[in-house]
Amino acid sequence: MGRTLFEKVWDLHAVRRLPNGQTQLYTGLHLVHEVTSPQAFAELRERGWRVRAPERTVATLDHIVPTRDQARPFADAMAETMAAVLERNCREHGVRLFDLASGAQGIVHVIGPELGLTQPGMTIACGDSHTSTHGAFGAIAFGIGTSQVRDVLASQCLAMSPLKVRRIDVNGRLAAGVYAKDVILSIIGRLGIKGGTGFAYEYTGDTIARMSMDERMTVCNMSIEGGARAGYVNPDDTTVEYLRGRRFAPAGPDFDRAAAWWRTLASDTGASWDDEVSIDGSAIAPTVTWGINPGQSVGVDATLPDPADFPAEDRPGMAEAFEFMGFRPRQPMAGTRIDVAFVGSCTNARLSDLREAASVVAGQRVAPHVRALVVPGSQSVASLAEREGLDEIFRSAGFEWRRAGCSMCLAMNPDRLEAREICASSSNRNFKGRQGSPTGRTLLMSPAMVAAAAVAGEVVDIRRWPRAPSASRERVHP
Ligand code: SF4
Repeated sequence: MGRTLFEKVWDLHAVRRLPNGQTQLYTGLHLVHEVTSPQAFAELRERGWRVRAPERTVATLDHIVPTRDQARPFADAMAETMAAVLERNCREHGVRLFDLASGAQGIVHVIGPELGLTQPGMTIACGDSHTSTHGAFGAIAFGIGTSQVRDVLASQCLAMSPLKVRRIDVNGRLAAGVYAKDVILSIIGRLGIKGGTGFAYEYTGDTIARMSMDERMTVCNMSIEGGARAGYVNPDDTTVEYLRGRRFAPAGPDFDRAAAWWRTLASDTGASWDDEVSIDGSAIAPTVTWGINPGQSVGVDATLPDPADFPAEDRPGMAEAFEFMGFRPRQPMAGTRIDVAFVGSCTNARLSDLREAASVVAGQRVAPHVRALVVPGSQSVASLAEREGLDEIFRSAGFEWRRAGCSMCLAMNPDRLEAREICASSSNRNFKGRQGSPTGRTLLMSPAMVAAAAVAGEVVDIRRWPRAPSASRERVHP
């Protein structure tokens, strides 16, 4: 009987069965940031405890950092306090911190992979929902709450109940202008935002196999938006080549030994999954959300749904979304006027995302009524992009080129929507108030679609753009 990657990694990290039936699970890597860790560190201090495995704990500053002026002290006193508290906690406990002076600071789910900290076969925890991103490497990665951050700091372990595994098999070549973001928005649209409850999602199929690591991270990042506790892709050559030479990846003969082991972790041919779903990748269109959760989406060339066509239990949620967004059933998605364009976040602010968005706006101008910003996912992404001149392409087109951080993904910093603004966003959540204004509205889409919307001043079909991007697989990635 074969086993899934989830079962193999779970079993390798299971310390013991707890009296309540849960498993005490060892955590290979604990990623920490300034928002969900202060209380956890404070509890350790109160009890006189130390961080159990500082060598497996890595911190960064991302959620609260301003992306325009990063001079210390920050203008926002609360942000300055949170940064200072994290710095003190890391110093006291011997935890490595990638701060603004490190050259490697950035969004926690961007820097983990790019530094080679994230590796196949690991269990990874972080006090942020989108920790599922790291599953792209064949790791089992969980977003955890503050009390669990305390538990992991103190014991390097988590009390967890095992998950069922749903295999999501995506096959077919993506059309030009269709991206990993469209794939995961389509999956969530089909299975629903609660469809993954109690599951880990295992993404397989030739569409996923052709994806770069950046693209796989985009897919896994939003697993949580489909209700799944984790999402992963089996390690393969793409995974191994991405990690080769990375700062914290094994080196020399150790790398070859590790790579050989990583490959054995992939789900066995004879494995059985608790559920299986097939998706036709060639049928996916550029996808845009129209509502107040990531499952409320349509193809850009479609019209918004009519609640009358849906079961009675779905209608109140749809009515709430229509009222909040100020949209009408059956209105076309394309042509929706936007006020703000945001290329950023741990979903889509890696170098390949910025390249794709830059290729769309090169030689064009942002519409006069649109405020547009590009926020690289990390200092490393920013410097690589600047080396390629992407910053100049964006600036010439009228975008603001910012410093690395979470920025307008959740607006715990000065980057926020105002009043009823509509934002074309490459981020991952379109909940009410997510981008800082209680009445602000978010349309999730791929970075290329955000870039095109910035220029057009409205939602447009990237497939009809004058410089239509190449098909997904042919794109270059770092
Ligand atoms: S970019 Fe958004 S989702 Fe990602 S870590 Fe930051 S706040 Fe969380």
